[in-house]
Amino acid sequence: MVSRIIPVDPFDLIIFGGTGDLARRKILPGLFRRFCAGQMPNNARIIGAARSTLSAEQYKAQIGTAISEFGNVTGNQAKQLNAFLAQLDYVKIDVKGEDGWRNLASKVRKNFVNAHYFSVAPSLFGDIAKRLNHWQIATPDSRIVVEKPFGRDLESSQKLNASLAAQFDEGQIYRIDHYLGKETVQNLMAVRFGNVLFEPLWNAQYIDHIQITVAETVGVGGRGAYYDTSGAMRDMVQNHLMQLLCLIAMEPPARFDPDAVRDEKLKVIRALGDVKPHEIVRGQYDGALDAQSYRQDVENPRSFTESYLCLKAHIENWRWSGVPFYLRTGKKLKERSSEIAIVFKKLPHSIFKDSGEAKNNVLAIRLQPNEGMTMDVTIKEPGPGGMRLIQLPLDMTFSEVLGDTAHDAPDAYERLIMDVIRGNQTLFMRGDEVEAAWTWTDPIINAWEARNDVPKIYETGSSGPDDANLLMDRDGRQWRDIT
Ligand code: NAD
Repeated sequence: MVSRIIPVDPFDLIIFGGTGDLARRKILPGLFRRFCAGQMPNNARIIGAARSTLSAEQYKAQIGTAISEFGNVTGNQAKQLNAFLAQLDYVKIDVKGEDGWRNLASKVRKNFVNAHYFSVAPSLFGDIAKRLNHWQIATPDSRIVVEKPFGRDLESSQKLNASLAAQFDEGQIYRIDHYLGKETVQNLMAVRFGNVLFEPLWNAQYIDHIQITVAETVGVGGRGAYYDTSGAMRDMVQNHLMQLLCLIAMEPPARFDPDAVRDEKLKVIRALGDVKPHEIVRGQYDGALDAQSYRQDVENPRSFTESYLCLKAHIENWRWSGVPFYLRTGKKLKERSSEIAIVFKKLPHSIFKDSGEAKNNVLAIRLQPNEGMTMDVTIKEPGPGGMRLIQLPLDMTFSEVLGDTAHDAPDAYERLIMDVIRGNQTLFMRGDEVEAAWTWTDPIINAWEARNDVPKIYETGSSGPDDANLLMDRDGRQWRDIT
């Protein structure tokens, strides 16, 4: 199968924080892959803007090294690297002062799409937004791209939104949640709304419960100081897991356009009910054998921040009444695995009583590794011996079914950056969605802080704390294996 590549319009993309970790590991290697795929026009330009004193040539060399290190560059692409680097430029800038702005203003072409990626700490977002207008770099058609964390509670997210809204219209602001850029996540919408099979079953009458898991094997890495002020709820649940929940639970939008989709997601967030203390388990990893503990990793011997969290969420509307959404995420778990599992109800009556119990059908949507979907169905075990039932997955691992098309699919960052250039906001969070998500999260965090909740210890490389299983046991259910 051959994928169709549609080049985008010529653009100037300015990356504030262009020498930083995110720019070197994700944004620029991603842009290079789009360049190799023929999606980036050769009069497009990328301008790194950061604090370091570098010439354009030094910057290109630095980025060339980063792309070789992080970009999965194949032999063929290596030849194209120099052509890509020729489209890069660099400006030394102080986003809190006036240094470098005149120079940047002279470089940005007003007659092209211009997009400004704020790959810097959120405390600098307002400064950049203000100066882009003050130096008349931004036009009414400019786009700005901002990264998580988008606040740490409702109040800070409102301030951040206000500092951007003072300078840019909502239609110009692209809040990145890279989970929305994943191929499988968009496939979730295609499966739901592009087939007649699923939607009639997609409700409390046929669905028993839903599990959303984002399990990581890594710890806090070099981000310990930040992570310890955040924890799993703020770092993962409020944004990534919440977005996945919205796409599963939302009503069919009237059309696949940004506001229609985001209006439906917002309704889901606003329908989320309270989470009681016994419906949430917080955990912190501690060393197995010679492994480091969370507290050693973040260099805070008295930390009560959670590196693991699971909870039972309720959506209080007609479609989902009585269907729990179990969310789970954690670091230093036994496998790196993200999936959404839709567990359907048992049959109302089985005619095969002597042939083994018919199990629940499960639609599992795997985000990583091996993006794809499986549908567990009950069939007759082949061969003689009468009617014996077994459950087998109908397996749609995309790389197997779609071959090169799946391998060559853009990763989340690549897809989202191209959407910015195209001016398509469907896969970006709107300001009111972010604030609604904090409105739900804040009381949960405040409640555990008020009762001085101590996270349960779990062993590095395990599936999480034992209490997480109790949460399910009480409901007569089980977590799916993290595999
Ligand atoms: P970083 O510390 O590696 O890089 C920061 C960049 O900002 C550098 O290029 C630096 O020169 C520039 N900068 C800082 N102060 C400046 C100033 N006054 N004027 C001009 N430039 C200045 O940070 P990072 O890891 O690349 O993260 C950038 C943003 O992306 C942060 O908001 C972070 O939370 C978010 N983020 C990062 C990751 C990641 O994997 N690194 C993942 C998700 C979100």
